[in-house]
Amino acid sequence: MAVDLHTHSTASDGSESPAAVVALAVRAGLSAVALTDHDTLEGIEEARAEAGRAGIELIPGAEVACEWKGGGLHMVALFLEPGPGPLQDRLAEFRAGRDRRNRAIARRLDEIGVDIDYEEVLVQARGGSVGRPHFAALLVAKGYVPDIPTAFREYLGSRGVAYATRPLLPPEEAIGLARRSGGVPVVAHPHTLGLNTAEEYADAFRRLAGYGLVGVECYYGEYPAETRRRLEATVRSFGLLPSGGSDFHGSYKPGQRVGVGRGDLVVPDRILEDLQAARDG
Ligand code: AMP
Ligand code: ZN
Ligand code: FE
Ligand code: FE
Repeated sequence: MAVDLHTHSTASDGSESPAAVVALAVRAGLSAVALTDHDTLEGIEEARAEAGRAGIELIPGAEVACEWKGGGLHMVALFLEPGPGPLQDRLAEFRAGRDRRNRAIARRLDEIGVDIDYEEVLVQARGGSVGRPHFAALLVAKGYVPDIPTAFREYLGSRGVAYATRPLLPPEEAIGLARRSGGVPVVAHPHTLGLNTAEEYADAFRRLAGYGLVGVECYYGEYPAETRRRLEATVRSFGLLPSGGSDFHGSYKPGQRVGVGRGDLVVPDRILEDLQAARDG
């Protein structure tokens, strides 16, 4: 059996409801699925209820962006339960930072004559944690750009004309908070760290392992099979565990399906079992 340890729903920047994400995991034949929305655990209750009905395991989680020079570090905290807790309590602050950042993006778009009202972005987000993909979808719908990647390249990405930042935690703090909250911190899609050489990867993994990182996403939907295997060998050599998932976002990230990524992704059960053992040990 296989699992998917990285998905998004309408609770953040996915197009499908938490229950629908779980239903897609059931249809893919998975034994477990993690819902890991950006900065929120809002979707967990609905996903868990659906998982209970369908007889699949729901792993609660959230994805949090961290400070990182030269690239982007996203930490997925697996087994993070809704309710009070050290990291849980900080999520509301991250969402407030998002809201301020989003309003700055909206102002910038207005200044350059793009007709997108922040109210429309909130509608697009369907009540979830608002992100740049919601702006991107509106830029596509209104004909400013042909697709979401172009919206990031021209408007929303770090070199885009409407780019704005928000306060982020240093990775050591995010990792510490995740562990003190009963979560298992995993670095998502490590290619975004902006590392080029084997030495740079080694330095980063050694440093992050020193902060208490547990895993790295090696089985990522966008990676070729060879990259997945090579990454697993590398991270294991630093005492880290492999994780894996599709990073499913529905229509906000076309091409990635729950459980199978582009069609060739398999995240074996044993990967979840090892991460679970790390939490319990
Ligand atoms: P935010 O969390 O609002 O800063 O938006 C970041 C999210 O936008 C990421 O988690 C991805 O889902 C998506 N994203 C980032 N860069 C791109 C890109 N170049 N093309 C498409 N989606 C992207
Ligand atoms: Zn996202
Ligand atoms: Fe991410
Ligand atoms: Fe993600």
